[in-house]
Amino acid sequence: MSWPRVVPRRAIPILTYHQIAVAPPRGAAFRGLYVAPDAFARQMGLLRRLGYQGLSMSGLMPYLRGERTGRVVGITFDDGYLNNLTHALPVLQRVGYSATCYMVSDRAGGTNDWDEPLGVAQVPLMDRGALRAWVAGGLEIGAHTRSHARLPDLPTEQARREIRGSRDDLEALVDAPVRHFCYPYGEYTSDHANLVAAAGFDTATTTERGRVCGGDSLLALPRVPVLRSTSLPLLWIKLISAYEDRRRSPASQNHART
Ligand SMILES: [Zn+2]
Repeated sequence: MSWPRVVPRRAIPILTYHQIAVAPPRGAAFRGLYVAPDAFARQMGLLRRLGYQGLSMSGLMPYLRGERTGRVVGITFDDGYLNNLTHALPVLQRVGYSATCYMVSDRAGGTNDWDEPLGVAQVPLMDRGALRAWVAGGLEIGAHTRSHARLPDLPTEQARREIRGSRDDLEALVDAPVRHFCYPYGEYTSDHANLVAAAGFDTATTTERGRVCGGDSLLALPRVPVLRSTSLPLLWIKLISAYEDRRRSPASQNHART
């Protein structure tokens, strides 16, 4: 299957966030994936001052397809933490930005239990009401499989159910189209990209670092991580320079092009 490509235009950063909350004490697992609410607000304020429009993946589509040009940045949240609704939504609304939250569909109303073996603190994920509040607030829900599956470990049929099923389940939960996918752990093969396309998704994002460039596959988009340690100057450098592009693995660039 030949995958749809990004049309060559200026590089587009897609930011990756996880939790928007005050980090747990020093030594806690994955502490780096927390961005404090006030830091998030300052980051969105910086984007605005720099003249960026923050967009969901659906909002980004015309730019990825080369139909529009502009100073845009994709904003994505992985896993579906309830603190995204509590802390990120009000900030995004204040600056007039959209965003996509990739939800693990079977864990709606549950916790990040796939992280439990690694000793990661369990925190609530959005339930049906929260997901609907997110969408009603002008933001978008994307899919992140049913169970935060490590796709390459699964037989094809099970992987298909994780991908396709998460879309069906989420569309039923939020009563809105779910057109964008994110590979858990950033792990996938070309077979999974084909399954994502067959399930009707428009894009899929990875954990590969870099800004989106012309020629990238829409089904294997790189992103720009924002961590607890990401200062405002570093965020600015990540957006406007090749800082992230240089951190992209050569293998992924080849992979993205096959
Ligand atoms: Zn995840």
